[in-house]
Amino acid sequence: MFENLQDKLGRAFRLLSGKGRISEKNIEEAVKQVKLSLLEADVNYKVVKEFINGVTEKSLGEEVLKSFSPDQQFIKIVRDELINMLGERSSPLRLSSQPARIMMVGLQGSGKTTTSAKLATLLRKEGKKPLLVAADVYRPAAIDQLVQLGKQIDIPVFTGDRRNPVVIVKEAMQQAIKNINDVVILDTAGRLHIDDTMMSELKEIAALVKPDEILMVVDAMTGQDAVNSAKAFNEALELSGFVVTKLDGDARGGVILSIRHVTGKPVKFIGVSEKPDGLEVFYPDRVAGRILG
Ligand code: GDP
Repeated sequence: MFENLQDKLGRAFRLLSGKGRISEKNIEEAVKQVKLSLLEADVNYKVVKEFINGVTEKSLGEEVLKSFSPDQQFIKIVRDELINMLGERSSPLRLSSQPARIMMVGLQGSGKTTTSAKLATLLRKEGKKPLLVAADVYRPAAIDQLVQLGKQIDIPVFTGDRRNPVVIVKEAMQQAIKNINDVVILDTAGRLHIDDTMMSELKEIAALVKPDEILMVVDAMTGQDAVNSAKAFNEALELSGFVVTKLDGDARGGVILSIRHVTGKPVKFIGVSEKPDGLEVFYPDRVAGRILG
């Protein structure tokens, strides 16, 4: 997904390689190339601006100008800024309640239902006993979809009252205690656009459930819009992190680079296929490595 960005950044770095001495102008040219590469990869423009300010400030110092290998110094500066933007380590789930509660939120089509099932699969691999809860009452097909997915992966799905998500959630928690499920994953309703009714319902569910994690599922293909909706959800709901999906497609990946910077919350998982095992823990340092080649 970052091949293009990697390629473009490589070109920026080559502007400084093999030169005996470099000037401020050489660096400015390389910085400009880095900026264009990031914008083209769909990174939010405000994030790019801050990134570039950081890189410019550090690379115009004596260290780079007088270095024997200015290109290597420059790559290091870009790498440090990338890690600064992405966060250094992965951010594991914090599941302390008994049963633990994970609330999945996001816009319709982002991959929320599929991701709920994928997350259940991943947690089962870690020895947990998850219960999936179908609380998306506005898209009846979503309930059936989750039931189907549950059958496929052999994980129980609680459906309950198909009209009232708050009732569903209450009953589901009792069911989890009865069945000794140690983690409950709630697939909540999404809409095509953010609206007040959806947000107040999600807030109501969150107040009732007191989730250990509220994860927003974001579709990487939606580029800048993804960043705007992430911001709005985070302001309304105090998210604990993000899952960025569809990174196996044509997405340029910029969403991953923008989200933490814009919201202050980490990307915890990435979706890399439609299949039940297509969810991976997100490791920022590995992504930085991949981008820099
Ligand atoms: P929801 O409306 O947010 O619950 O979205 P769904 O879970 O129904 O997903 C919408 C579509 O995106 C479905 O066709 C999923 O199979 C697909 N999808 C979800 N995650 C991924 C992913 O990581 N990669 C790919 N290629 N497709 C995905």
